[in-house]
Amino acid sequence: MTLAYQSTRDAQNTVTASQAILQGLATDGGLFTPTSYPQVTLDFGQLKDASYQEVAKLVLAAFLDDFTSEELDRCIAGAYDSKFDTPAIAPLVKLDGQYNLELFHGATIAFKDMALSILPHLMTTAAKKHGLENKIVILTATSGDTGKAAMAGFADVPGTEIIVFYPKDGVSKVQELQMTTQTGANTHVVAIDGNFDDAQTNVKHMFNDAALRARLSEHKLQFSSANSMNIGRLVPQIVYYVYAYAQLVKDGEIQAGDQVNFTVPTGNFGNILAAYYAKQIGLPVGKLICASNENNVLTDFFRTQVYDKKRSFKVTSSPSMDILVSSNLERLIFHLSGNSAEKTAELMAALTHHGQYELIDFDQAILDLFAADYATEAETAAEIQRVYESDSYIEDPHTAVASAVYQKYRQSSGDDRKTVIASTASLYKFPVVAVEAVTGESGLSDFAALSKLQEISGVPVPPAVDGLETAPVRHKTTVAADQMQAAVEAYLGLDS
Ligand SMILES: *Cc1c(COP(=O)(O)O)cnc(C)c1O
Repeated sequence: MTLAYQSTRDAQNTVTASQAILQGLATDGGLFTPTSYPQVTLDFGQLKDASYQEVAKLVLAAFLDDFTSEELDRCIAGAYDSKFDTPAIAPLVKLDGQYNLELFHGATIAFKDMALSILPHLMTTAAKKHGLENKIVILTATSGDTGKAAMAGFADVPGTEIIVFYPKDGVSKVQELQMTTQTGANTHVVAIDGNFDDAQTNVKHMFNDAALRARLSEHKLQFSSANSMNIGRLVPQIVYYVYAYAQLVKDGEIQAGDQVNFTVPTGNFGNILAAYYAKQIGLPVGKLICASNENNVLTDFFRTQVYDKKRSFKVTSSPSMDILVSSNLERLIFHLSGNSAEKTAELMAALTHHGQYELIDFDQAILDLFAADYATEAETAAEIQRVYESDSYIEDPHTAVASAVYQKYRQSSGDDRKTVIASTASLYKFPVVAVEAVTGESGLSDFAALSKLQEISGVPVPPAVDGLETAPVRHKTTVAADQMQAAVEAYLGLDS
């Protein structure tokens, strides 16, 4: 029997894994979500010696069960290769009192590479499977990292076009240049006058616009998504939680069966949701600690069960988490509501129309799996400094948010189970913040900070940022948030 992926907003809308990946978002506005979980045997006696690719095969075969074994082998081999700078793919580093799972060894030095290096392979395989003749147009809103990682994956992939929108003032200089220097004839990058939520909302509108879909179809085009709303992003993220656990067993840090906590720096709730799914297939997970920056809408939600986006948006030093509408929370809401599409649709409508909702009847056991807190800008900087002093290791600001929240959690809860911090970006992605936290030196440019960081850390500058300063800028378009659709129509020739 193949696994069904159901829209969170319509119980009648169910598809297979490959269809869910092709569509990206459900046309009713919901997200395709598993309603039952595959049986997976997690034998850590064996898995402790398995490669990342082997763990990926186990997890992907279970969740993406309408792909053949050969198809998955090809996708995995194409994704997790020398684009990563270490054969471990996601190394686990032991620090004083915590383990950092480094998810930033791919082409764009942020954790988005973990899933976006395989998504184009899964999508083109799914397209072939279904005899799709339309060209796939990947439409993506990015808070900085998804856009680059998606373009790195999709650049010059036949049968695809990719359009990325990012908030003009919401990304670091390194992030912006990584995107605007992107090569590939099928890549398009647009800055918008607005924040990430504006970008994401307008992208969702385009997905849900039936008239626009029909016009695309006339031109033999169809949208799909590279955001974590696409289940093809989430499933590959389950892999590294299983892999991290296997490494802890291998290193003798835990016995197979011991519970482990995961602390995840959270924005759109995709990464931590993957950890939740890892638990559903039997990974011994203790707490899932949801770490936010000063945009702490999720902290409030877990404490009060009220989700209230009516608050001021803050630009912080961890921009990939500067989000007020966390899209993947919808999937957890669906599970918390007993997989009820009706209730989920109601709550999401309340969010759209009133800017908030309150969860009334919910599954307490699911909620109890989570702990949540946030770190202020000052706490984040102090944590970078603390870890540097104790371990001579420099965390990026996103990782430091998680690390700071974990320290607070451990002190207040007394929970001393082994804890893994999802380390989502290389120190080189946000160099100014890291240098200032460690040395107190402020006002440096991104590139002056890069060389300074190399001096302090001894970690070589990765190819992803080396040479960025002088690379030709290819994408220079800025539009108002309400002109995003016009930009898409122009790129796709729909306006002619
Ligand atoms: C995207 C991102 C996050 C947030 O992950 P979500 O899956 O959106 O919760 C955290 N850190 C970095 C560096 C990111 O790029």
